[in-house]
Amino acid sequence: MSYTYDDQNIFAKILRGEIPNGTVKETEHTLAFNDIQPQAPHHVLVIPKGAYVTADHFAASASDAEIADFWRCFGTICGELGVTPDQGDGYRIISNAGQNGVQDVPHFHLHILAGRPLGRMLNS
Ligand code: 5GP
Repeated sequence: MSYTYDDQNIFAKILRGEIPNGTVKETEHTLAFNDIQPQAPHHVLVIPKGAYVTADHFAASASDAEIADFWRCFGTICGELGVTPDQGDGYRIISNAGQNGVQDVPHFHLHILAGRPLGRMLNS
């Protein structure tokens, strides 16, 4: 695995506190904040604090503690938003990677989208 992390990406700046964000939750290894251009009533971005470019990079290189913290944080947010299918109307998670995935920010992030019907998974 040969990812090079660009520490000037916008989420790195958010993690360093150089750019404000609408924090939803912060844990030891994870930060979650509202997307600046929400595509649904709930649009939360969940990112690891570590320097990982994509989901596969995170899965291969993060520590067990980072991975557990990330997914626990994700689950807690879904519960707090009230969107889990057992209590609410559901959600979608997306993680874009690379060129075909149309990833704009090269720091691994999970989009949580919820609060309206989200249509079929892909349009094209
Ligand atoms: P990607 O296309 O990389 O999967 O998604 C990047 C997301 O980051 C987009 O949904 C975009 O709206 C969001 N975004 C870009 N810049 C900022 C920012 O400065 N603050 C916040 N909160 N979100 C941002």
